[in-house]
Formats: sequence, structure tokens, C-alpha cells
Amino acid sequence: MRIDCPYCLKKARITSRNYLNEEKTVSELYCECTDRDCQARFVFSLSLKHHINPPAPITQELIQNLINRMSQEELGELQKKIASSAYSREAIKKPPKRV
Ligand SMILES: [Zn+2]
Repeated sequence: MRIDCPYCLKKARITSRNYLNEEKTVSELYCECTDRDCQARFVFSLSLKHHINPPAPITQELIQNLINRMSQEELGELQKKIASSAYSREAIKKPPKRV
């Protein structure tokens, strides 16, 4: 991770990290500027904002939980949709154009 000094905009290094929660998703980064003429020291905040793609085990667990809650009829419909082009991998990669 690159940190830029907020004063001189040159490279800074992280000297230590203080986690603020047990999940280690929020922390303070203690930094110091590497520029000899600046030598500023400062603290950055770092936090997890949101998932772009959840971890694969969580995704699989979610899918399994959804499937477990479906009726036999719903499962049959899902299998038909998966077999059709509407749910093919190509259709997922190229979603239909919106008007
Ligand atoms: Zn600096």
C-alpha cells in the first residue's frame, strides 16, 4: 500500500498499525514522510468500506442456503432457467442492453 505525505505529496512509510476492532477492518496507520526536508508524521484511517465480491466460501454458503429453502417446483424451474440461454455464462457476461 502506498501512502503519500499529505504535506509534500512524496512517499511516506507506515511505521505501525493500530487495529480499532476485533475483525481488523478498521485501523489507524501511523506514517512518516520519507522526504528528508519534510519528515512529517501523521495518522491515516483505514477501513473496509464494502465487498465488491464476497469470499467464495460465503457465496457458496449463501447459494446452498437459498437452494435449501426452495421447493421442488422452484428447483425444477431454476434448473430449466439454468439450462436455457437466459442463465448461460455468456448471458451473464453480457447482460442485455437497457433501453
Ligand atoms: Zn512530506
